[in-house]
Amino acid sequence: MLRRSPSLRALACVACAIVTLAALPATTAAGAGRVSIATAAPARDVQPDGFSDSTPSGSAHRAPRAGGQSQVTYHGGPVQHSSAVYPVFWVPPGYSLPAGYTDLITTYFADVAEDSWKSSNVYGSIVQYYETNPKRFASYVVANKPAGMDTRPFPQSGCPNYTLGDGTVSKVCLTRGQIQKEIVRIVASHNLPADLGTQIFLFTPQGVASCKTKTSLAKGGCYNPLQFNGYCAFHSRVGSGSDASLFAYMPYNALPGCTSGQSPNGNAADAVLNNVAHEHMETMTDPLGNGWYDASGREIADKCHLKFGRALGSTATGQYNQVINGHRYWLQTVWSNRAKACVQRNTYSYPKVSFTYSPSNPVHGKKVTFKSNVKQAGESKWTYRWSFPDGGTSTAANPTRVFNTFIFSGTVTLVVADSKGNQTRFARSITVK
Ligand SMILES: [Zn+2]
Repeated sequence: MLRRSPSLRALACVACAIVTLAALPATTAAGAGRVSIATAAPARDVQPDGFSDSTPSGSAHRAPRAGGQSQVTYHGGPVQHSSAVYPVFWVPPGYSLPAGYTDLITTYFADVAEDSWKSSNVYGSIVQYYETNPKRFASYVVANKPAGMDTRPFPQSGCPNYTLGDGTVSKVCLTRGQIQKEIVRIVASHNLPADLGTQIFLFTPQGVASCKTKTSLAKGGCYNPLQFNGYCAFHSRVGSGSDASLFAYMPYNALPGCTSGQSPNGNAADAVLNNVAHEHMETMTDPLGNGWYDASGREIADKCHLKFGRALGSTATGQYNQVINGHRYWLQTVWSNRAKACVQRNTYSYPKVSFTYSPSNPVHGKKVTFKSNVKQAGESKWTYRWSFPDGGTSTAANPTRVFNTFIFSGTVTLVVADSKGNQTRFARSITVK
């Protein structure tokens, strides 16, 4: 039934290290003052994100917004150079997630992290998008952080309960503000870094409705695209600028209006993972709402929702179109300006990178010369980012460095980007005596 061997599955579960966040004191909200709820949400987070259908369209089913063939353009803000992901499952007493739901999600993030820098999955195409002053491309570098289980009760409904896509009436309705408050609480009480390289993915179970405001229902802006012109998930932030805490809100998506149409892992979480990929890639290229989107405000995943590309094969429970760290997923495509199309992976050439250093037995206090060796047909304009084990960095092609601190052994890393953003990371150890 599942494509994972039982042993791998068990291993993934042990590794996922679910930490209980239940013991949060009720008074830990933004006390530190480090994080505040943004009063003006960026335009991007009001988009009906992850709006995908696999259900027969009825009269009530809003036609999906056309993806459009226009390019996304840059709006002056930052992109992400790394993404440390904290999955948090907000499941109070009285609510539950299906068996295997959290395991599949934590395995997914581990897989996406493991395949960092690669071109082989849908994340590989985000590297073409960049920020300026100075110009620097986004990177597909994901770190999988321990998952948290938040069992704090939901607040009293801030919006009226309503009928969800599966025909059931919600048990609680959370406003955007209530969701943001929980993010602030999680960040503050666990001292999570509030920066552009960190993102919380907050998952809620079946029966939880959400709306932008308490009066959104009549005009859309609620979870459930089938009847309310709403969303399946969204990404946003609390705080502002480089102190923002990025998050994505991921309701239960295995119901009409939000399913992806395939379930290669035979678990309800397959549905939400499609929208996790959607929100994750949009965050990488538009973390603050002033990065990359088209003239209609569509971010790189919005433009390709409902578009899955070609299946690579099938499991016993459904088709898959992505293989990430050897595991199979069904994820939407993403917009590539370079290809002028929705793409499943990055098919363009990458630089081949290595470097040498001399002397081969470096001594502290004496100069070491590093020489990069980069090859790539048809390309000559590479940029270089060196990281040295003493904390130093360089953007030269062939830097020299004097290690003044005694380092027994460490790693020198070189990331080379070509003129289109494709990046190769090469690392080797160095011992300084
Ligand atoms: Zn979106």
